[in-house]
Amino acid sequence: MKCQMCEKQAVMKLQHGDLCKTHFIDYFEEKVFKTIKKYQLVGRQEVLCVAASGGKDSLTVLYLTKKYIEKNQLNVSLFALAIDEGIANYRAKTLEDLKQFCDEYNIVLHVVSTKEEFGATLDEAYPIVNRGTKKKPCNVCGVWRRYLLNKHARRLGATKVITGHNLDDEAQAIMMNMFKANTDLAAHLGPVSGVYEHGLFVQRVKPLYMCLEKETRLYALLKGFQVEFTECPYSNEGFRSQIQDMLNDFEAKYRGTKQGIINSFLAMLPLLKEKAKQQEEEIQQCVKCGEPAHQEVCNACKIVEVLAHG
Ligand code: SF4
Ligand SMILES: [Zn+2]
Ligand SMILES: [Zn+2]
Repeated sequence: MKCQMCEKQAVMKLQHGDLCKTHFIDYFEEKVFKTIKKYQLVGRQEVLCVAASGGKDSLTVLYLTKKYIEKNQLNVSLFALAIDEGIANYRAKTLEDLKQFCDEYNIVLHVVSTKEEFGATLDEAYPIVNRGTKKKPCNVCGVWRRYLLNKHARRLGATKVITGHNLDDEAQAIMMNMFKANTDLAAHLGPVSGVYEHGLFVQRVKPLYMCLEKETRLYALLKGFQVEFTECPYSNEGFRSQIQDMLNDFEAKYRGTKQGIINSFLAMLPLLKEKAKQQEEEIQQCVKCGEPAHQEVCNACKIVEVLAHG
């Protein structure tokens, strides 16, 4: 396998040819920078909060956002924000990797824990919240993470939250919403999340939107980011992981399937957003915590209420 650009040994087989280490790194970075420009993910004057976990996606997006700012000499500051959900045998290690990375690249890191904020770790909370159901921890984790990211990014003055979602994550989310006929939720996907701007919500953007999981993994490896390629112990459970297996299976048989899903979705997205805008209920403030909510009490506080009643 030879690089199509320089005849050196190739490290990655792509749909349109094979690339060596140097050309793959250039190709990957160019793709991320193009995504940022095309969807205007970073403006000329911003305070960016990178949602970081210490995994390969978050370290890659942290590194490349910083590189993009420096390359374009933007008047933009950047910090990392990590949520510690307290997942045993997993989160402490990824946070350690993240701290080291932030020290090395001179990035300010803030860590917020669910234990301090809600009085419980995810491991403690989900067996109580999901008792009597077949639900996995991810529903509790997702609500708390989104809540804490938004709240603390805003508190710290961020104008945008950068997330490390890659093309595989997005293709999975699109198919999950499709299978469950959640067209309203699908409208919140895309390189720029959300349907409309609201003072209490910090807009979330995804620079790795066009990068396959395997490309991101290889990039992190080639750049020597010290990432433990461990996954959350709960990640093999549930609907998403079955969708992931299905898409990987299809991709192996029909190369380009995942990109095809993304391209079709992007063609439909303006219509979905338009429809969702017309139907969007008014955002209220949670009576308990003051954060944005669709009902009187926000979902994060509802979980805390369930915990309080044991
Ligand atoms: S796999 Fe589920 S529990 Fe683990 S970090 Fe992701 S959402 Fe949270
Ligand atoms: Zn080459
Ligand atoms: Zn609340």
